[in-house]
Amino acid sequence: MDFNSHTDSIVRVAVGLVNELTPGERRGRDFSPPHDLAPAATEGLRTGYPGHREVTEVEAGELAEIAARLRVVFDAVAKGDVDAAALRVNDLLEKTRARPMLERHDGEPWHLHFHGPGGTMTGDWAASCATGLAIVLGSEHHDRLGVCTAPHCDRVYVDVSRNGTRRFCGTACQNRVKTTAFRARGRVS
Ligand SMILES: [Zn+2]
Repeated sequence: MDFNSHTDSIVRVAVGLVNELTPGERRGRDFSPPHDLAPAATEGLRTGYPGHREVTEVEAGELAEIAARLRVVFDAVAKGDVDAAALRVNDLLEKTRARPMLERHDGEPWHLHFHGPGGTMTGDWAASCATGLAIVLGSEHHDRLGVCTAPHCDRVYVDVSRNGTRRFCGTACQNRVKTTAFRARGRVS
């Protein structure tokens, strides 16, 4: 499954920002973003863009606010409320004033970028992430955004598997649930 490789990268950035910068639970433990936010925010961006430059502390704070707004969209889809998710995304598109622009760089063919009005890196990422989620929600794969279903984990994911059966944020949670199920069976027999 691919929306196209550039959209996939943008949606992975949205996932990375939510997972690194929003509080909640991760792999069975309480999670809060670190006090030193910049490395976490950089890590989030590099989830989709491995070569992204390091961000400043101010940019990291802005990205954390964006991440909180993006999380709401994942939460709504996970609850089966696609209508709420779509309204949220429309709100984000309007607030970020996402503007498409064909660009060509780093030897890549022409592809669409999305910019915010201010010419800032964080404004452009807010616009890009809003647009990436809009493309997913506007496609037949609108249910591919998810929140991990393992106990005590609320990290998010985008399911790009062929059959769309993903339920966990990663293999750590998948293995955690498998082990628990295996132990439960052991107690019964
Ligand atoms: Zn998880």
